[in-house]
Amino acid sequence: MSLLDTSIEFLKGVGPKRAELLNKELGIFNYRGLLEYYPFRYVDKTQYHKSNAISPEDALIQVKGKLGKIQISGRPPKQRMVAEFIDDSGSIDLVWFKGIRFIKPTLKPDTEYVAFGRPNFFNGRINIAHPDLAEFNAEEEMLNAKLQPIYSTTEKLSGRGMNSKGIERLQKTLLVDVFKEIQEILPADQIEKWHLISRRKSFKEVHFPESPELLQKARWRLKYEEFFFIQLQVLRTQMANKAKFKGFVFDLIGDKFNTFFKHNLPFELTGAQKRVLKEIRFDLRSGTQMNRLLQGDVGSGKTIVALMSALMAIDNGFQVALLAPTSILSYQHFEGLQELLVGLPVRIKLLTGNTKTKERRELLRDLAEGELEILVGTHALLEDRVVFKNLGLAIIDEQHRFGVAQRSRLWAKSAEPTSPPHMLVMTATPIPRTLAMTLYGDLDVSVIDELPPGRKAIKTIHKTDAGRLAVFGSMRKEIAKGRQVYLVYPLINESEQLDYKDLMDGYESIARAFPNPEYQVAIVHGKMKPADKDYEMERFVSGQAQILVATTVIEVGVNVPNASVMIIESAERFGLSQLHQLRGRVGRGAEQSFCILMTGNKLSNEGKKRMEIMVRTNDGFEIAEEDLRLRGPGDLMGTQQSGLLDLKIADLAKDNQILVAAREEALQVLNNDPNLAKPEHSQINLQFRRFLKERPNWSRIS
Ligand code: ADP
Ligand code: MG
Repeated sequence: MSLLDTSIEFLKGVGPKRAELLNKELGIFNYRGLLEYYPFRYVDKTQYHKSNAISPEDALIQVKGKLGKIQISGRPPKQRMVAEFIDDSGSIDLVWFKGIRFIKPTLKPDTEYVAFGRPNFFNGRINIAHPDLAEFNAEEEMLNAKLQPIYSTTEKLSGRGMNSKGIERLQKTLLVDVFKEIQEILPADQIEKWHLISRRKSFKEVHFPESPELLQKARWRLKYEEFFFIQLQVLRTQMANKAKFKGFVFDLIGDKFNTFFKHNLPFELTGAQKRVLKEIRFDLRSGTQMNRLLQGDVGSGKTIVALMSALMAIDNGFQVALLAPTSILSYQHFEGLQELLVGLPVRIKLLTGNTKTKERRELLRDLAEGELEILVGTHALLEDRVVFKNLGLAIIDEQHRFGVAQRSRLWAKSAEPTSPPHMLVMTATPIPRTLAMTLYGDLDVSVIDELPPGRKAIKTIHKTDAGRLAVFGSMRKEIAKGRQVYLVYPLINESEQLDYKDLMDGYESIARAFPNPEYQVAIVHGKMKPADKDYEMERFVSGQAQILVATTVIEVGVNVPNASVMIIESAERFGLSQLHQLRGRVGRGAEQSFCILMTGNKLSNEGKKRMEIMVRTNDGFEIAEEDLRLRGPGDLMGTQQSGLLDLKIADLAKDNQILVAAREEALQVLNNDPNLAKPEHSQINLQFRRFLKERPNWSRIS
């Protein structure tokens, strides 16, 4: 046991009460936890902002000046105090809502102060609410000139003296105590190769930087180390799985595949589709179990790749499962595949929550006896009573909608415990490389980076409410040409009731503007019974209804090539990736398609930025990168996977190069010492075991 394992309670200045808060609020339990609680930002205490050059976008600022007029308005508890704060370029306001009667008497005129805090913009002026206000002291300033660490903290912690400053004090105490205890853990060759500064120095510099250069070096090293251990885990899992499990060998390219290829394939495969099929083909005959993530933008043609992979399995006498997140989508897959397979002796069925008892019983019997070759379905397919005779390939569509558990349940459906089915997981959410390597590091990745020929790029237009009539006009024009229109409303759980009302109001106004019998408007939302949903959806899919008013249930996978207009209401409430997914519902035919983003007049800066990006580019990868940058990884992947991505210092959006370096090294270490048993890896081993205990399990399949 190392000193770093000491309970945080025993650090001078903490004690049981504060320790409990640190546990609860920040997940800090011991010295190590605090040491690895890094500043999220630094403020250059040698620099002052000019009051006339502050923007509300600035994160934290400090201004040097003197107090001017002080005004108090209202009565407690709604009182506020506003003090003018004047420097040589102009003035800002300092504002207090609490503690006014204590603060007021301490404020001195004609005294130079430094005000520090987060700027806001209100009533045409910049202000700082509850600033840190300290008298300026030129001498001290000289001595302390440095980068000051800023720690994120919570209201509860601040209330007990653990605001950023308080945490900074604890870090100082801690570093003095443990500095000598911090040992190097990375091998000398890595340290030399990447010019890493020592571990000890990194911790000191990351909390109390001597200079921006040293801070950079410290952060680089700590990020590298964080990625290194993540990659060790991911790669070890991958290796262990490869060693533990055999893969079915699908050697044969048989009749069904060949007949399909010769007679049924409705188009020429794109180069990217061919390449990916080769990769899959290689995996399927390699003897190790395939775990492949197939990424391809919406409309890139993943389905045909899935089907042709399925035929490889079937030709070798195995069964195939295709799992889709919604019943509408699995139904579309089922229909689509049937159509593609017409004339081929391939037995395919659909299983969803709506499947009738009698039909299900029959289906399950056929499945167990091997009479069925492809089973398409929803979560219903994961139930225990669904037993395959010999499941050889499991395909998951729209992987991001499923969690770890679902994948491992499919994994377990093989008849042979040591040979799980080959897995092909498909996603249209283009995942930036960094994220894929971290989150799905145990998967091999294939990318379809080419759209089928003849597609016209979708035109994206941003409109505010004022432009609504014009939008209706365009809709009429498109419908007159025989096209169909999607109209999507956001549905976000917190305000479900309100959203629902928006949707119904929207539907009514559309129904008024596009009256029966000239127009048919279908509606689909989450509160409908599945059967009604399917009925309405079918009206649109079959072309009976020209307009579909829907919530995001259509986000995933629905394919109506005749639809050429996607209107997204309150577009500012959607994330970039979601907008891109929705947009991908159109542009599937040869016609010019449009995506119209409707927003209110007032948009936040981030909202504006998102609209601009959408209008500017159709490239899913670019959008995913931007999304990652704007929103962070947790949001991007949906709640199922967040938490897995709470990195301590590395940044998935920005640190791709560091990740690649760390991955290379981790791979090299494992290749030469798979069990980390060699003496030169003893420190890595120790740290790795600690890491495994602390982190959620990164591997998707266990
Ligand atoms: P996604 O990758 O979003 O699942 P789909 O597999 O649904 O995309 O394919 C989108 C559309 O493109 C379908 O209508 C499909 O028939 C068509 N398609 C796929 N591959 C090709 C190709 N190589 N050439 C022409 N059309 C194709
Ligand atoms: Mg699809």
